[in-house]
Amino acid sequence: MIVKLDPELRLQILEKTGIYSNRFSISEPVLLLSTKEVLDAPKEMTEGRRTSAYKYYGVSYLQHNLVFINVRKIPDDKTLENTIVHELIHMRFPYLAHGKRFNKLVRQGLRGKSFSPYRKRSKTLVI
Ligand SMILES: [Zn+2]
Repeated sequence: MIVKLDPELRLQILEKTGIYSNRFSISEPVLLLSTKEVLDAPKEMTEGRRTSAYKYYGVSYLQHNLVFINVRKIPDDKTLENTIVHELIHMRFPYLAHGKRFNKLVRQGLRGKSFSPYRKRSKTLVI
């Protein structure tokens, strides 16, 4: 059980996030690692999941490239890694809701799979 968010654990989380962000071809998000950091962040960045963030293992604030990892709530290292990958999959596949496909991508990510950069589909129709 993880009890304390010490500098070493913080660094470990940053490193993991860096590695997975590279593999997923996303820019590394800013990390919030405690509910206090969520509450201290600008309100417009954490809108919608601010005072309720404590309920979750992690929250992605996609618009602001911001990720909350609820270190204190996370019971073990495996769940921590899962949560990091889960939130980063949200960042890489912003159009994808939770479900089978999402879970498959999380599993692939955990196994070390790389993903090419996300490209927004062009809204221009060429005829
Ligand atoms: Zn999610």
